[in-house]
Amino acid sequence: MAIHVPINQSTDLADVNLYDIDAVLKGLIRLHGGAWGEDLLMRFGEFVGSSEAIELAVLSNTNLPALHTRTRFGQRIDEVKYDRAYHELMAASIAHGAHSLSWRDSREGAHLVRAALLFLAFQNEAGHCCPISMTHAAIAALRKQPDIAQRWERLITSNSYDRRSIPAEQKMGLTVGMSMTESQGGSDVRANLTTAQPIDQAGAGNLYTLHGWKWFCSAPMSDFFLITAKASKGLSCFLVPRWTPDGKRNNFFILGLKDKLGNRSNASAEIQLDGALGWLIGEEGRGIPTIIEMVNHTRLDCALSSAALMRQAVLQAMHHCRYRSAFGKRLIDQPLMNNVLADLSLESEAALQLAMRVARSYDRAASDEGEALFKRIASAVAKYWICKRAPVVVADALECLGGNGYVEESPMPRLFRESPLLGIWEGSSNVICLDVLRAISTSPETLDALVPELDVSDSHLSRFVASVKNDMAGLKKILSKAATARPSRRHQEAALNVEANARLFVERLALALQASLLVRNAPDFVADAFIASRIARRGGLALGTLRATSGGGSKKIIERSFTLA
Ligand SMILES: Cc1cc2nc3c(=O)[nH]c(=O)nc-3n(C[C@H](O)[C@H](O)[C@H](O)COP(=O)(O)OP(=O)(O)OC[C@H]3O[C@@H](n4cnc5c(N)ncnc54)[C@H](O)[C@@H]3O)c2cc1C
Repeated sequence: MAIHVPINQSTDLADVNLYDIDAVLKGLIRLHGGAWGEDLLMRFGEFVGSSEAIELAVLSNTNLPALHTRTRFGQRIDEVKYDRAYHELMAASIAHGAHSLSWRDSREGAHLVRAALLFLAFQNEAGHCCPISMTHAAIAALRKQPDIAQRWERLITSNSYDRRSIPAEQKMGLTVGMSMTESQGGSDVRANLTTAQPIDQAGAGNLYTLHGWKWFCSAPMSDFFLITAKASKGLSCFLVPRWTPDGKRNNFFILGLKDKLGNRSNASAEIQLDGALGWLIGEEGRGIPTIIEMVNHTRLDCALSSAALMRQAVLQAMHHCRYRSAFGKRLIDQPLMNNVLADLSLESEAALQLAMRVARSYDRAASDEGEALFKRIASAVAKYWICKRAPVVVADALECLGGNGYVEESPMPRLFRESPLLGIWEGSSNVICLDVLRAISTSPETLDALVPELDVSDSHLSRFVASVKNDMAGLKKILSKAATARPSRRHQEAALNVEANARLFVERLALALQASLLVRNAPDFVADAFIASRIARRGGLALGTLRATSGGGSKKIIERSFTLA
């Protein structure tokens, strides 16, 4: 029998340096002051794009984590065993500093370079990036309790990954998870029922015992967890170790692992704390402001990760369309496919431009008040909008591969299953939009910090920006009136309408920011196409509906997005 040999098929997109082939990312790193990190990014880009790393990503999502509550002799252990491939990816991301560079390197741009590391890692494998992101973000909250931060920070930021389940003091490197969500309330953490009592004396830095259940606790093999629980003065934040200071397993029990749509290499557990020991981080009753320090960072990471999913999906689509021919031409040369790929690239670039601009503000916030205000509001705006766009972009990129995009051997199903998660994590879309309103209501000057970012050099953009500024002024007024001691009924109703319109408001802010960044940082053919389609609304609702022009704009956009070195 002559075995059929398929023709006109694509190849794996492997052994390409994901940093080196990304002209947009490289440009942003240089523009925002991260050029010193390029050697590191080149090394990591080579790893994450290698056949070896792709194989590790596949294995860690095929051989899924498994819960072992007891040894074969019946002793309780509550351990999750992962495939070797997952550990190798953790080791590589940690060795390159994706979990810590911003805390260890004092050069300006350290947050930016770390953001790029995460962006690269996520393109290869999403699941292990969850503990990488949480470990990084935890430092921001731990620093609220300097004695505890001092005790553990060196090991948490160490470039060694130590997978062993042993007391933290004996390890070469530590990872940190976080658990706030309970079954009766995730977004509304005030509904937390987990309790905490001081062992000896109440107060910051002291040991407490925690009792309760948490509905989601990802990366349950982390060495520490930041956990919210109610103490006598209200919701508080605790650092709970897997092993107690006297070297015993903490009373931290894993009840089961979630069977999830995606993010499958990462275990997400339900846990019970039955007298687990934990140190109080910050003051009692200040749990939300403490853990928010962490959440601000993970929110930025959600935006970066969604941008990474878009980038990887668009790369896969472009690669396929360069190989595959239909109706006498390569797909990439078919005018309508050209339109789709260009539109996907626009969305992908706009996402990265916004995410990296926000990342830059994390570097500058400590020394620049305007950047601190920008960071406060723009993190939420970017988290909402970029995460909202990811599933749309990934779904259309998947379709570019036709049936080959829908089979499990392709990377596309994994990217697709991952894409809705980042919208849910770290504040689901509505919660994030309400957070934007909260930021404006508590410090109206956050809106002022956005104004210098908004470009008005294009006439459409200028009209759009004027209308967004108008929204901003109206919103500030309504929110300040509604915040008075006795707001009138009219003001209360107006505030409810503001809340109902929050998604629309945040979307418009995000589009104005993205368009302005593209005008400043991208070639005219990119900015013009974005403004024509997203601002002047000359295109349609679906992707691939850019209005074609005779200047060959789509081809140039595609070349910018996908030039193999
Ligand atoms: C894979 C995975 C891993 C996770 N890992 C962790 C973890 O490690 N640690 C952890 O703490 N949590 C974790 N979570 C939980 C996650 O953070 C929550 O699911 C999320 O915060 C939403 O909470 P919820 O599920 O209780 O939904 P709810 O809070 O019930 O929200 C449901 C919907 O209602 C909307 N909503 C809520 N309030 C309002 C409002 N006022 N107005 C309008 N709409 C509103 C939300 O936006 C959402 O769309 C994980 C979740 C997943 C899926």
